[in-house]
Amino acid sequence: MYNIDGAARLLELSIMYNIRLLRQLRWFGGHHRLMASQHKRPQLLGSVPSDQLEQLKSNYFARRQELSGDEWQSVRHSLIEGYKHINDHNVDAVILGVCSGPQQLSLAKNYVDYLRSTGAGPNAATLGRLLRVYNAAYHTRALSEAEQREILQICDSLQAAHETLDATSCEQVIHGLVATTEHWQRALPLLEMMKVTSTPSVSAYSALAEKAFGQSDQAEEAWRLLEEMTLARKQPRCEVYLALLNRLAQEPAATSSLRVELERLLQFLERHNILVSQKVAQRLLQLGQQLPQQLRVTASRLGPLGKCEECRQHLQPVAISDEEFRQLSECFLEKVLIRGDVFQKSTPEEVLRFKQYVEKTAPYDCVIDGLNVAYSTGAKKAPQQLAKLLATVVRHFKERNKRVLVLGREHMRKWSKSAMHYVQNNASLFLTNNLSHDDPFLLYATIRSGQETDFFSRDLMRTHAFLLGAELKPIFRRWQQEHQFSLVTQTQTGKIIVKEPIRHRLSVHQAEGGSWHVPYCDVYTPNPTDSFDVPEHWLCLILNT
Ligand SMILES: [Zn+2]
Repeated sequence: MYNIDGAARLLELSIMYNIRLLRQLRWFGGHHRLMASQHKRPQLLGSVPSDQLEQLKSNYFARRQELSGDEWQSVRHSLIEGYKHINDHNVDAVILGVCSGPQQLSLAKNYVDYLRSTGAGPNAATLGRLLRVYNAAYHTRALSEAEQREILQICDSLQAAHETLDATSCEQVIHGLVATTEHWQRALPLLEMMKVTSTPSVSAYSALAEKAFGQSDQAEEAWRLLEEMTLARKQPRCEVYLALLNRLAQEPAATSSLRVELERLLQFLERHNILVSQKVAQRLLQLGQQLPQQLRVTASRLGPLGKCEECRQHLQPVAISDEEFRQLSECFLEKVLIRGDVFQKSTPEEVLRFKQYVEKTAPYDCVIDGLNVAYSTGAKKAPQQLAKLLATVVRHFKERNKRVLVLGREHMRKWSKSAMHYVQNNASLFLTNNLSHDDPFLLYATIRSGQETDFFSRDLMRTHAFLLGAELKPIFRRWQQEHQFSLVTQTQTGKIIVKEPIRHRLSVHQAEGGSWHVPYCDVYTPNPTDSFDVPEHWLCLILNT
């Protein structure tokens, strides 16, 4: 059945497995039409797998250890003929990208052998992809010495060809080297080399940190990599934590080192506000079962006020200390807002006028970003509706006897007279020119008013948090969580639903009584949202002394 006589036949075979495509075949009569429709879709190299490539992978490559020279030639030919974006130069890397699973190392090597037999040989991109297949295999079994030698040969040849490798090649070589037992540390300088042209990727950092955590004497190197990558806003992959936990599980019962290392992990997650995935949470639960003398780990739920249903302790309040607020406001008002040039869209006169206004009218209980509020249920509304929504939010606070400042833009003067009158009569109103950014004004007025003041906006203030640097960012985030209100929605009857701040901490931390609480999410994401939603899943973790 593997006697394939031509390129189209192979692709056709793969198509036939796809029910959706089969339906289309039936409706449109013939696969030529089908191919034409595939071409219309934008296809990027690297994320190649279209339906057909996926089918090729699962229904054909998955079953074979090797193909004959003729078969490889037809696969190659069919891909070049069948896809606009595949050409003679990239087809080999595409093929290795398709057979990249851990079980497909033989097939991938067979293809590279085929390329060598043709005299053309594999190019650097193809060899790089082959290293990733070795890496995939390494994650399912120990590689033999012969396989490790093959990896080193490839890495040597890639490094010998260029004094400086581009970032992609560095990444591939790193993935090759970490699959070896003795030579993985050769990969560390390559991480530095990547920095010449870009920030090293999550995958390069994670591969190295994972490897380092797997060694009993390289934990410091792993921590260094983790700190460095999180500072560069790269989220470590689950495998990194799993490598640490797996090693801790295997080490002889040295209670102190387990405790020290686990605490270090929890503190790291706390400091960087990292939500681990379910995979990592499962491993922690398992570790608790493996080492019941040393730690107790249970899945838990939180009551409405942040009480753990397992240990009955309350999670810590998110509020920051007076001293932390003092640091934050000093840094914010002086370094970030004034000298940090975040008022760049405003004129110095406007900033001065604003500061004088705040000095005269502060403190407020709540500072409202007027434009953000007005547009929060959709920007395409009539000015009258926008103004009315803003007035409703002002009334919400007025009814609670709050002193309110509304920040807005000059053009809002043209909105509905009656609603804007209400705003003006029941709040302080400061309008900036139409180009100014509102956040710096909002944060200035809120922080200047003191530790108890809240603000109302949906903006996540990511840029401002980042500008504060590693030390103050977590403090700013906690202050933000405690004080940020936002609009959830407005009902049909015009009633508004306001999202109030959650007062207990939402990240990994230790409760007063000593138990750690670890929130987790379903799956790893490289770009967490930074929102202040309460995580659904928690672990309650007690380290025995
Ligand atoms: Zn608990």
